[in-house]
Amino acid sequence: MKVKKLTDLDVRGKKVFIRADLNVPQDEAGNITEDTRIRASIPSIQYCLDQGAAVMVTSHLGRPTEGVVGPDDTLAPVAVRLGQLLKTPVRLIADWVDGGFEIKPGEVVLLENCRCNKGEKKDNEELAKKMAALCDVYVNDAFGTAHRAEATTHGIARFAPVACAGMLMGAEIDALTKALYQPARPLVAIVGGAKVSTKLTILKTLAEKVDQLIVGGGIANTFLLAAGKRIGESLAEPEMVREAQQVMDIMKSRGAEVPLPVDVVVADEVSALARANRIPVDDVSPHDRILDIGPKSSAKLADLIAHAGTIVWNGPVGVFEHAQFAGGTKMMASAIAHSEAFSIAGGGDTLAAIAKFDIAGDVGYISTGGGAFLEFLEGKTLPAIAALEARFQD
Ligand code: ADP
Ligand code: MG
Repeated sequence: MKVKKLTDLDVRGKKVFIRADLNVPQDEAGNITEDTRIRASIPSIQYCLDQGAAVMVTSHLGRPTEGVVGPDDTLAPVAVRLGQLLKTPVRLIADWVDGGFEIKPGEVVLLENCRCNKGEKKDNEELAKKMAALCDVYVNDAFGTAHRAEATTHGIARFAPVACAGMLMGAEIDALTKALYQPARPLVAIVGGAKVSTKLTILKTLAEKVDQLIVGGGIANTFLLAAGKRIGESLAEPEMVREAQQVMDIMKSRGAEVPLPVDVVVADEVSALARANRIPVDDVSPHDRILDIGPKSSAKLADLIAHAGTIVWNGPVGVFEHAQFAGGTKMMASAIAHSEAFSIAGGGDTLAAIAKFDIAGDVGYISTGGGAFLEFLEGKTLPAIAALEARFQD
C-alpha cells in the first residue's frame, strides 16, 4: 500500500485540511467522557502548526441528520478540549463548506461536524469539490472511518491538490500492512468472540495467510462441533459447521493448523455467580456451557504465541467479563504482552480486554478503527485508503 505521508511533505504556509476522527463519547450534558481520539489526533495537527500551516480540522460526531446541526451534534466541546491539548485557542467554524472564513498561518480552526453537511454520507461530488477548494493539502487521519466512502474521507481526496495520510492513519496502515503482508513468521492469529458468522470472512482470509489460527469463544465451540465434539448447551452455530470445516481444510492444505482446546471451563449459566468447572473437552455433558478455554489449552496456546514472529488478535477467547471465565483471555493477553513478536490487536471487546488486563503498553499496535480494522483483516480494500493510494504519484 503506497500512500503519501504528511511527514514527507513541506506544509509551510499551506492551507491544510485534516479529516480527523474526533467522535468521542459524551455524557448527557455534552461533557467529553473519554478523549483518547482527540489526543491521538494531536501529532498531525501539531506537526502542521509547527511548520506554520493554516490548519482546518474536521470530524464527524455521532449520527446527525444531514442539513442541520442539532444541539447534540456540535463539535463545540471538542474545540475546547482540542484547545487545551494544543495550548492554543481553537475557533469553531459553522457553515464552512463555501469558505468565507479566515485562518492565519500557525492557526488551527475546527470545522463543524462534517456529517451535518448535505451529501457527506453519499460522497457527493459537488460537496467534495467545494471542500477540496478550501485547501492546498488534504490529510486523512481518520482510520476509524476508512471503510466508508464519504465526502470527507473519499471524495475530497480525489480533488484536493495533494492528498496524504496523517500520522495516525500512516502508523495504522504501516502496522496492519507489516502484520498481514510482510509478517515475521510464524504468523499467529487469535480470533475469538461470540459467533463464526460475524467473523467468517476474517477466518477465511486469515486461513490463507497465517501459520496458526487460534480460535476461541463461541467460535471455538463451532469448530469443536465440526471436529465431532459434544459441546452441550454452549453457544455455537451448528449451521456454520461446514464453514468451520472449510477453514480447517484450508489451513491443513497449507500445512498450518487450527489448534482446538483440549480442556475447557464450563458452567450451567453465564453469570457472575456461576460455578465454574475445568474439565477435559471430551467430558462436556449435555447441560454444560463452555465459557472459556481451560488451563492446559491456555498454556499450549501461550506457547504458540511465545514463539510467534507476528501476532494478530481479535476477540476474547472466553466470557472474560466474569472472573471465572476470564482465565483464558488473561493468559492470551499476558502471552502477547510478554512476546517478542510484533502484535496488533483490535475490536471493541478486545480493547476492553486489553484495558482490563492492563497490557496496552505491551501490544505492538492497537487499532483505533473497529469496523475498519475488521474489514482490513477481511482483506477488503478500504475506500479511504484506496483514494489516497490513487493520489500517491501526484
Ligand atoms: P470484538 O468486539 O473484540 O470483535 P466479539 O464482539 O466478537 O469481540 O466477541 C466478544 C464477546 O464474546 C464477549 O462479550 C464475550 O463474553 C463473548 N464470548 C467469548 N467467549 C464466549 C463463549 N464461550 N460463550 C459465549 N460468549 C462468549
Ligand atoms: Mg464486540
